[in-house]
Amino acid sequence: MKLEYIALAIPFFVFFMLLEYYISQKRNKKIHQFNESIANINVGIVERITDLLTTGSFFFAFTWLHQNWAIFTIESNWLTWILLFLATDLVWYWYHRFGHEINLFWAAHIVHHQSDDFNYTAAARITVIQAFARGLFWSILPIIGFPAEMITVLLLIHGTYPFFTHTQLVGKLGWLEYIIVTPSHHRVHHSSNPEYLDKNYGDMLIIWDKIFGTFAEEKAEPKYGLTKSLGSHSFLWQNFHYFLELMVAVRLAPTFKQKIKVILGSPNNHDPRIRTLLERKLSQKVTHIQYSKQLIRAIKVKTLTTIGVLFITILFSHYISKPNLWLLTAFIIFSVIITGAMLEQKRWIFHLEFVRFSILCFIFNETITTLYTTTLIVIVYTMVLLFYNSINSKYQKVIFAN
Ligand SMILES: [Zn+2]
Ligand SMILES: [Zn+2]
Repeated sequence: MKLEYIALAIPFFVFFMLLEYYISQKRNKKIHQFNESIANINVGIVERITDLLTTGSFFFAFTWLHQNWAIFTIESNWLTWILLFLATDLVWYWYHRFGHEINLFWAAHIVHHQSDDFNYTAAARITVIQAFARGLFWSILPIIGFPAEMITVLLLIHGTYPFFTHTQLVGKLGWLEYIIVTPSHHRVHHSSNPEYLDKNYGDMLIIWDKIFGTFAEEKAEPKYGLTKSLGSHSFLWQNFHYFLELMVAVRLAPTFKQKIKVILGSPNNHDPRIRTLLERKLSQKVTHIQYSKQLIRAIKVKTLTTIGVLFITILFSHYISKPNLWLLTAFIIFSVIITGAMLEQKRWIFHLEFVRFSILCFIFNETITTLYTTTLIVIVYTMVLLFYNSINSKYQKVIFAN
């Protein structure tokens, strides 16, 4: 049986998230908010499923670059592995730094910094757009001459290590603080305290920050999240608000040169009033929502189900037909959009639930195609359409009743 073992990363990371939650409860440390944790996990879920569809293309691109453009011939031995490790970490430092210093890259990286919480669930906040930006920077490595197979191993290490730096439960680590990126260093990076801004970009080694002058030691208690908190848990808004803000800023810039300056300029010069304007227009600012027990239960069940579907889809991806793989991806993306909107108590989610139901019907039909099953699906689908309004009002009552 050919299983996709990368799926095991899901229970692995979920285990540590639960363990951290358990330990923090025992120590009476309040480091998790329900809505923040769900929003964080939602971003991670979509990154995992889109990764499944795109990782192959990175490997293909790295192989192509290596075969056609490699400057040196690099064989795999202990010295080249060390060199590659140093090279990837240095490339990561600059990819991450540009992610903070250039608006276009910040639009993708901002998602990683939106959580006002700092725990293992925040580590899951990586988007596929960010993965593409990372791929772009890493393209330098096959051009230098490192084979794609070696780079892929390093990508796995760089995908795992930073997860463990997102915690408040681990204090300073003695002499290790001088060499590797520790939770203490990364707490500084995720803080909006003025003295901590744009500091500690390193992924595994802290030496780059010391060399390039961006190091800060954790002294004062960090205040996590963006300087201007997003105040939204909507998956769509979190992923695309800064791109929209940039579009508005580009439109407002009078000359072509200034438009380019907006895209490649520093986020520090971005006008914060644009977000307020968009929030008002798209009614995005949501404050002080009281969650009913039913709503919390529904969100928990939905999130666990989505994680389960994600795990099974990745694990058995070699046995799933291409149309079903796309349908399952759509199902997972709609699921997280729904739970994100549930956190904001958006009433329109029922229509998305209907889309999700339609996707399920297609998956069912694609998996078992007989005259009986197709007829059954058509009957059930017609019934749902006929009673659409009454199902909707029942749904609203169950989910949003206090
Ligand atoms: Zn960052
Ligand atoms: Zn981080």
